[in-house]
Amino acid sequence: MLGEGIVKGLAETARNFIGSYVEQDRLTTVQYPEELLPAKEAARNFPFLVFDGNDPHAGMRCVACQICEKECPPQCIYIEKSKDKKPDYIGKAQFYPAVFDIDVSVCMSCQICVEVCPFEAIKMDTAFELSNPDRFGGLLFDKHQLAKSNGHYHDIHPTEAAEVDARLAAEKAKADVKAKADAEAKAKAAAAKAATPPPKPAPIPAS
Ligand code: SF4
Ligand code: SF4
Repeated sequence: MLGEGIVKGLAETARNFIGSYVEQDRLTTVQYPEELLPAKEAARNFPFLVFDGNDPHAGMRCVACQICEKECPPQCIYIEKSKDKKPDYIGKAQFYPAVFDIDVSVCMSCQICVEVCPFEAIKMDTAFELSNPDRFGGLLFDKHQLAKSNGHYHDIHPTEAAEVDARLAAEKAKADVKAKADAEAKAKAAAAKAATPPPKPAPIPAS
């Protein structure tokens, strides 16, 4: 019938329009910015730096290896390595970033920095309300602005964050076993050395 498609389309629109007053799942839009839809777990926007515990400096996972800086296609990461070191999550002394900046006005959200990081230190955030009147400085985020807790990582990407935690915990357990075995071997060697009698002095030849 001529116009059948148009009638069906109008009927569907009317069904959705009326349904939106009575069925929650037909409300496809919300009153932003008063209302916000929760971000999907796979959503990503710009990177952030993960820290463990409550202290962003002490818990920051980044060791300033600069791999992400080299691999970032638009070169929007800038890192300066520290002069001193601090312990990482397994207690190994590591450098940390004295400076870590990301120019999010240039970042293209490709996630390459996340994929190349060997330390699970940089992840993609879902924050998107970043508009700023300052086109340059306002979108140049330093390490203090970039640092977000592992709890935040769990909030936005729970599945991925749980996998990372399990991997890091397994690595830490392995490192603890090795450290314990090394300490025992060292103690054993020291005990064996202490138990060995000192060599007898050479006899003095008769004159
Ligand atoms: S997401 Fe891509 S463009 Fe943005 S900082 Fe990471 S590597 Fe660079
Ligand atoms: S975020 Fe990762 S890859 Fe980038 S400098 Fe830090 S540890 Fe290295």
